[in-house]
Amino acid sequence: MERNYNFCAGPSMLPTEVLTQVQSELLSWNGMGASVMELSHRSKEFESIIKNCETNLRHLINIPDNYHVLFLQGGAYTHFSVIPWNLLGTKTSIDVINTGIWSKKAASAMQKYAHINVVASTESENFRTLPDKTSLEFSKESAFVHYCDNETINGVEFSYQFEAPIPIVADMSSNILSRKIDVSKLGLIYAGAQKNIGPAGVTVIIVKDELLYLLSDRVPDIFDYKKQSQNLSMINTPPTFSIYIMDLVLKYLIDLGGVEKQEEINRKKSEMLYKCIDSSALYENPIEINARSRMNVPFILKEQGLEEKFLSDARNQGLINLEGHRSVGGMRASIYNAMPLSGVEALCEFMNNFEKSYG
Ligand SMILES: *Cc1c(COP(=O)(O)O)cnc(C)c1O
Repeated sequence: MERNYNFCAGPSMLPTEVLTQVQSELLSWNGMGASVMELSHRSKEFESIIKNCETNLRHLINIPDNYHVLFLQGGAYTHFSVIPWNLLGTKTSIDVINTGIWSKKAASAMQKYAHINVVASTESENFRTLPDKTSLEFSKESAFVHYCDNETINGVEFSYQFEAPIPIVADMSSNILSRKIDVSKLGLIYAGAQKNIGPAGVTVIIVKDELLYLLSDRVPDIFDYKKQSQNLSMINTPPTFSIYIMDLVLKYLIDLGGVEKQEEINRKKSEMLYKCIDSSALYENPIEINARSRMNVPFILKEQGLEEKFLSDARNQGLINLEGHRSVGGMRASIYNAMPLSGVEALCEFMNNFEKSYG
């Protein structure tokens, strides 16, 4: 059976090698005569899976020992609220950097629990740029600063890591494990798995130990980061099958050569696609060059009335899910870790040919 190149923003492509392994182990995992889906989360077998998953993640992005790794539910969206529940302590304000639709949604969720102090916003420039690193000034009174490292909808990605006198909370849902990062500069990283590291259902939280001891008496146990860290993320049943698949994705990435190797491949893919867009008269990506995402590449067709044709021709050639987000329209190619270089090559070739025929 042929697999398409799937440019969906999320849930997105998984490595074929991982899916093939899942298929081969579906009925009987590790000689158990039962699927992972059918194993107790309290069994020593599942415990080994979730522990391996943590070990592999720690290895891949060098997570220091004083950070906890949690595998929770709810998706990133839920944690927009859960984070203030856990991290506000006695503080009453949160600093935010507003660089696109996701950081804005996060701020509006957090606004229910604290005063929002907008440290920088690129909204007046239609989210086409990044704030200047030297212009960021934080309030020492705020509990933390929240930002989104990669704006999945707008196609904007931070090209720098910044420092702050308060803990930095990073939404890395759409670019975690796509490049090297210095975890020690951050207080908390969170990511829904379904873009870059696995299937939907599990949300990864990486949190610095000292942030777990703030006042959080009224947080439901399931979303209490401290209690979950003391219970191997298993106060209740975790999304066991999603965690198992994530573990396979992490192992696959380690075998590939780790995040460094993946970063190199991601750079090649995004450079190739932006070059294709920039050198064409038909396609356009509006994002300032130093703010462009390596993961999500939105673009428009400058000629009216060609979008349907573009999408259906692409689909016929096995290039699927290229329509842009419903809120911004146009096209978007999401080229996460699992998208092979050959997929981007095929897309560029298609785009060049389409322009020759109709542009
Ligand atoms: C997709 C996405 C979210 C929302 O994730 P869910 O898991 O659907 O809640 C939040 N932030 C970013 C950056 C995203 O890409």
